Amino acid sequence: MKHALKSLEQGMTGEGLDALLVTDPKHVYYLTGFASNPHERFLGLLLVRGEEPLLIVPALDGEAAQAASSVPSILTHSDTDNPYDLLKEQLNSVKLGTLGIEKEHFSVARFELLSHSVPVEKISDIGPLLRSMRAKKTPEEVDRIKHAAELVEEVLRRGLEHVKNGVSEIELVAELEYLMKKVGASGPSFDTMVLSGPNTALPHGVPGNRVIQPGDFLMFDLGVYAGGYASDITRTFAVEQADSELVTVYNTVLAANEAGIAASKPGATFGAVDRAAREVIEAAGFGPYFMHRVGHGLGMDTHEYPSLHGLNEDMIEIGNVFTVEPGIYVPGLGGVRIEDDVWVTEHGPQTLTSFPKALSVLQL
Ligand code: MN
Ligand code: MN
Repeated sequence: MKHALKSLEQGMTGEGLDALLVTDPKHVYYLTGFASNPHERFLGLLLVRGEEPLLIVPALDGEAAQAASSVPSILTHSDTDNPYDLLKEQLNSVKLGTLGIEKEHFSVARFELLSHSVPVEKISDIGPLLRSMRAKKTPEEVDRIKHAAELVEEVLRRGLEHVKNGVSEIELVAELEYLMKKVGASGPSFDTMVLSGPNTALPHGVPGNRVIQPGDFLMFDLGVYAGGYASDITRTFAVEQADSELVTVYNTVLAANEAGIAASKPGATFGAVDRAAREVIEAAGFGPYFMHRVGHGLGMDTHEYPSLHGLNEDMIEIGNVFTVEPGIYVPGLGGVRIEDDVWVTEHGPQTLTSFPKALSVLQL
């Protein structure tokens, strides 16, 4: 993803940074194409203004980095090396005024180690720059999210076959997470959620041993990682029969989901998406039961910038990908959430998820 490295180099000049050190493995992947979990070992991309970028990896990752990285200069360190001394050697001839780091990722402990070896006058946070770059997805990134969405929908389709007499929420979670790997995903992008009956009234409930009953609403919220990118979908079903009050709740949430998607246009604000969905729910009298924002950015992280809450006046741009997931949660009765992944194009919103949304009644 060479474009990302170029944009970062431009941003670095714009912000007056002499050098920057990227250590979040996701950002190293984003900038070089090399994906790795270094655990506690040091992994970093060093960019010094006017020089070629340098990727520093643990020795055991050397070969994999050579194969995958678009940055050709790779320096390896063994477990007995002090990687910060290696950095010092690299930076020897550089007069380091301001060093850019990711403040949310670079720990205080690491900063102390770095400061011991490399005298840094000033540090600057490159998190916001990376965050805004990541928010505008390239077609290649959108393809990956779409692929992750297709895989999770296949998992949901096959998972529904396991909704049978006597099955519990946690057993369905186990089936779904097994299916994720079977269909070719790397794994879940967050803890899979299956909630039934009154538990569906808990927006962040934890699946347990409750057995699915006729008359339940059954909520699935799941996502997978594939190719380094996440999907995130929620669908709610009725079991055997649908309570009439819950049907009203369901159709209200569906209308809110569609209103939120329709408002996802370039040039509108993120807040307008939340407000469009919320107005539908408020008009139906369920306002107090929709107690979370309408969605969140989606990409290498399941939750990333932007946050789609009603007061976010940042502008929607072409290339943004985010979720639209209104819900209504009525204590004692149950809840409904319907979540789609939305890509903003020059022509307007396109959903990357396509699982049917009309209320479906499952037979045990
Ligand atoms: Mn979700
Ligand atoms: Mn979500």
